[in-house]
Amino acid sequence: MPLLARMLPAPLTMSVRRGAVAQLGALLADSRVATSGRVAVAVGPGQGDHIEGLIAPTLGEAEVFRVADGSVDAAVSLGADLRKGAYEVVVGVGGGRTIDATKYAASLAGIPMVAVATNLSHDGICSPTASLVYEGGKGTFGVPMPLAILVDLDFVQSAPRVLVRAGIGDVVSNLSAIEDWQLGNVEHGEPIDGLACSMARTAAEALIGRADSIESDAFLIVLAEALILSGMSMVIAGSSRPASGGDHEILHAVDQLFPGTSNHGELAGIGAAFCFSLRQDTARLAQVTDCLRRHGLPVVPADIGLTSAQFAEAVALAPSTRPGRYTILEHLDMGDTEIRDRVEDYVRAVGR
Ligand SMILES: [Zn+2]
Repeated sequence: MPLLARMLPAPLTMSVRRGAVAQLGALLADSRVATSGRVAVAVGPGQGDHIEGLIAPTLGEAEVFRVADGSVDAAVSLGADLRKGAYEVVVGVGGGRTIDATKYAASLAGIPMVAVATNLSHDGICSPTASLVYEGGKGTFGVPMPLAILVDLDFVQSAPRVLVRAGIGDVVSNLSAIEDWQLGNVEHGEPIDGLACSMARTAAEALIGRADSIESDAFLIVLAEALILSGMSMVIAGSSRPASGGDHEILHAVDQLFPGTSNHGELAGIGAAFCFSLRQDTARLAQVTDCLRRHGLPVVPADIGLTSAQFAEAVALAPSTRPGRYTILEHLDMGDTEIRDRVEDYVRAVGR
């Protein structure tokens, strides 16, 4: 009997718990991530001192680097420091920006990276991509997946609420992204990966109906796991397809046209709800908008300070942000007037 299976890359350790940062040294040693070599720790500008104080007792030997921001420049500069110091591993501790910059720096230095997330704003914790700012725009760069993933719930509980809630929008948008992938499969024979779909979808389904929210540790654990599963689904798919469809095209277009409007997860949530409205899937639309509202996330353009006309402009630009990706937006191929009408329909249907 043939014993054929594909081997999946996966982090050595995944742990969602309180006190993860304080126990970093023990976790690194236990998981054999760092055994004898030098460890570098990269922290963001905000909580650097606090984090340095917490890790000092167990990681005294580690060198701490400050990552100025989530830019390519900051990542390249950290990468050069890491190469010079001949480190065995770099640990990125912080939010999305610090982790993404550290991921990219680690890939430049050719060393493994451990991600320690202190908020849950998007599914980049475990993804094989780094989203970094360069020349005023934002680019997505392919990088190796982190070797280990830790989420510290003490930090998450004290992170700005808006950054923790945002991750819910990013996870829920998987449901729309998977529909887009299936559409690409049916319409153009695009290969689809059932395992990647099941991971991305299960992550969203685990979260969407929950009555509790980010005040509860039980909810945060599911949210963290869902974000990590989403990241893993992208690793398995070899692209962001299972977690990024028309919803993320709209997100990127809003970022381009109206920078600073809102964060990644909030925009992904609105984009997903709007895509379900385009598909005239009223059941899913209601489920998604109920979920977004329950957690205090924006639903209509006005919630993020955009007019319907501005949002329509973003929808029109959206397909060009991801050339070659077939989604409900490319499928409907709407003209400007139709887009405006569909945005108005959406606002009428789901507006308060
Ligand atoms: Zn996303």
